[in-house]
Amino acid sequence: MKYYVLFGPPGAGKGTFAKLLVENHGYYHISTGDMLRKEIAAGSELGLKAKDLIEKGNLVPDDVVCGMIRSEFAANGGVRGFLLDGFPRTVAQAEALDKMLSDMGDELTRVVSIYITDEEVRRRIKGRALVENRADDADDEIISTRIKNYHEKTEPVIQYYKAQGKYFEVIADGTIPENYAKVEALVD
Ligand code: AMP
Repeated sequence: MKYYVLFGPPGAGKGTFAKLLVENHGYYHISTGDMLRKEIAAGSELGLKAKDLIEKGNLVPDDVVCGMIRSEFAANGGVRGFLLDGFPRTVAQAEALDKMLSDMGDELTRVVSIYITDEEVRRRIKGRALVENRADDADDEIISTRIKNYHEKTEPVIQYYKAQGKYFEVIADGTIPENYAKVEALVD
């Protein structure tokens, strides 16, 4: 089984590239952000817990997202492989993912990281706010919190995977098709 992590700051295009990779390569897409937004829309207990954190630009607790990933793996055994989008976002999540995979006798295939500058993060999120109605995309202060959380909590994950030789980075400074071609070249 192949397990890819699509990594990068908010607005890097993880969701866009994941959808294209699903269409072209048949992988199963797991987006913790999409799953959390569905829980919020459904008004579930988990959604109620996550809503305030997400709307303020903060991360939800590690055990919540790790539990979601674990149940997605368990429920989708027949697929060719998984594309994880927006997970892991902390070193603790990366460690938990390694443990989950080794318990299944497997391991992560590689991390495909999409690099854009902070300035580009702001520009893209503002563009997305006009199309998708996300409360966490609309406000400058919330975007700043997300960028800060990315640098403080998520960026250390890069070093974690570099140490394993599994980190591959794409500089996403072209058009969507150009950037996608770079991403696709790193995926079987
Ligand atoms: P995304 O759609 O990936 O940008 O995620 C939207 C929001 O959901 C994030 O800003 C976090 O509040 C929350 N979230 C999504 N994935 C995770 C994760 N792996 N760990 C913690 N919080 C997450």
